[in-house]
Amino acid sequence: MIRARRWPDESGPADSRVLGKDRSHLPRKRFGQHFLADPHYVGRIVAAIDPQPGDNLVEIGPGLGALTRPLLERVGRLTVIEIDRDLAAKLQAEFTPDRLSVRIADALVFDFASLGADLRVIGNLPYYISTPLLFHLAQCETAIRDITVMLQKEVVDRMTAAPATRAYGRLSVTLQVRFRIEPLFAVPPRAFRPAPKVESAVARLTPLREARPRLADEAVFARLVAAAFGQRRKTLRNAVRALASDAELERAGIDPGARGETLSVADFVRLANALSASESSSSTRTARARRSRSS
Ligand code: SAM
Repeated sequence: MIRARRWPDESGPADSRVLGKDRSHLPRKRFGQHFLADPHYVGRIVAAIDPQPGDNLVEIGPGLGALTRPLLERVGRLTVIEIDRDLAAKLQAEFTPDRLSVRIADALVFDFASLGADLRVIGNLPYYISTPLLFHLAQCETAIRDITVMLQKEVVDRMTAAPATRAYGRLSVTLQVRFRIEPLFAVPPRAFRPAPKVESAVARLTPLREARPRLADEAVFARLVAAAFGQRRKTLRNAVRALASDAELERAGIDPGARGETLSVADFVRLANALSASESSSSTRTARARRSRSS
């Protein structure tokens, strides 16, 4: 949970060029509004994105436009998704629709695939929804060329975590099976107005494409990963009881007495594919899963 040091921010932006001299908007805590106010970090993020004319760019949460303006200068045309109607109206007043397509929407349920192929997703993400938003973007992976986002540093640590570490979990496995993830650089709280209480970091996610492990059934994989990390202290035998028997775990080379957090992404893929392939046990598993969901 992120708490601003001061709401509303009375100090104004560090650099009025970045916030367009607009002091009329009071940051809304419920929308996770921490506006980027340091031109140094704006420049570094734009350089990391390296936008080119013709790129199919979409920015999540443009806010007061700190990233939007320099991006537009480079690409000429941009789509933004903003939940705050007041901020969306400011952007609509500043830019014509042929340059800036403003979608007033909740990014958590927005259909990113509707924006076309080869999508480049960027944003200083609202931290209160960054994890569910990453799960949502993972579902649209085939439409995406890359994702460059600012998040809490702690979330970037979870995205890139290795097995048997505290940070390793459902987010790590769900993203690592689909994306190459590069932590790029950290951003201190003083770069924002109002300042968040936590460190931030910028990361890039690139779909693995042909290097992506083949999943026979995405839904089985998702259920398995969710169950394995649902109760971290439990052994796999107990945590995934509704999905796999001891024998099925052992046949996939997995110790039923191990904890889910010790399994690599490759282990999860192998086990999920073994479960999917096991035609005869599939109806049993479904019945077990139904029983476990209804209990
Ligand atoms: N990009 C701006 C910047 O760097 O200064 C603003 C970043 S601020 C951390 C997050 C932005 O996301 C805000 O403009 C906020 O209104 C918007 N936002 C919050 N929740 C959202 C949601 N569910 N869907 C779309 N935008 C959202």
